[in-house]
Amino acid sequence: MNAGRRFETRAVHDGQPPDPATGAVIVPIYQTSTYAQEAPGRHRGYEYSRTGNPTRAALESSLASLEEGAHGLAFASGMAAITAVTYLLNPGEHVVAPDDVYGGTYRLLVRVLERYGLQASFVDMTDAAKVEAAIRSQTRLVLIETPTNPCLKILDIEALAALAHARGALVVVDNTFASPYGQQPLRWGADVVVHSTTKYLGGHSDVIGGAVIVNREDLHASLRFHQNAVGGVPGPFDCWLVLRGIKTLSLRMREHAANAAAVAAYLAGHPKIAQVFYPGLPGHPQHALAARQMTCFSGMVSCIVRGGGPAAAAVASSTLLFTLAESLGGVESLIDHPASMTHASLAGSPLQVDAGLVRLSVGIEHVDDLIADLDQALARA
Ligand SMILES: *Cc1c(COP(=O)(O)O)cnc(C)c1O
Repeated sequence: MNAGRRFETRAVHDGQPPDPATGAVIVPIYQTSTYAQEAPGRHRGYEYSRTGNPTRAALESSLASLEEGAHGLAFASGMAAITAVTYLLNPGEHVVAPDDVYGGTYRLLVRVLERYGLQASFVDMTDAAKVEAAIRSQTRLVLIETPTNPCLKILDIEALAALAHARGALVVVDNTFASPYGQQPLRWGADVVVHSTTKYLGGHSDVIGGAVIVNREDLHASLRFHQNAVGGVPGPFDCWLVLRGIKTLSLRMREHAANAAAVAAYLAGHPKIAQVFYPGLPGHPQHALAARQMTCFSGMVSCIVRGGGPAAAAVASSTLLFTLAESLGGVESLIDHPASMTHASLAGSPLQVDAGLVRLSVGIEHVDDLIADLDQALARA
């Protein structure tokens, strides 16, 4: 849709023309479960809101435009979106995922879907040879997350897609951390893009949502069938909130990234910080790849605090502006101690995270205030 228009313009307009019935400039919240039919089976494209709803259709069309895909599908959460993608698989089939995949995705693959006959392997995807070795004849899906969570490794979508396609597997990219402003995986050969719209797309920490974007008609038909058959759809108000967030996505992402770059540089020079992870730092191991693949380095920064778990927990408990909370991607800054919060479910598994790790979702407050807050928290640790 509107090919040729720039991202910022598409974010404001695509999928959201003035309401044909009233001229309302903003897509109305069609808070209805069902639709009057003119005669049995004769309707205006909407029958029942699990199957389709005009507010959701606007969001789905906007999401497709942002990812430069043909079709977008909205879900009630990021996990509902990822679950919908797994309905493309049959029992006995196999998934390859990164070894620092989102904790909820790990839990879904291992603790839920293994009971239904799916198998999953977790590998360091910065090493193509390890991905190659993990792919089996039953591998149907290679799931990529980049930047990864919480260590912000950058994975080469184009190279991994070539490798996966050569072995007959589909390539799914969870694009939550970069947002469509920062990276468009379909351009690099991905078959499916998924999002937790709870994060940067919604952008205001006030909604839970998910999305799937594809180009292929066969994948769209199957996903659309399962969206309706399984039913994990978002309500119209939640769709409206995500649409509202999307309009300012580019402004927010530029500010998140500028603040994150300054915070990363500050942390890199702090004596109590052993290591900083931010793809925009020239010293990041995959910085060159990030610069090629991403159009914005996003607002997530992780670091390892010297002194391990107790020191990291002390920093995370001492910030005044950075709120101690799970999640990311909202306008307000958040701080997370992954080992005891977002990644606690990995404890005791081979994927367990370093207890000294602190993850920051850098918001759009004034950067001087953010750095001053980290400075006083580190002084106390
Ligand atoms: C939050 C998140 C999810 C899950 O999304 P929900 O909206 O919480 O269900 C999946 N992947 C990544 C990378 C996430 O950050």
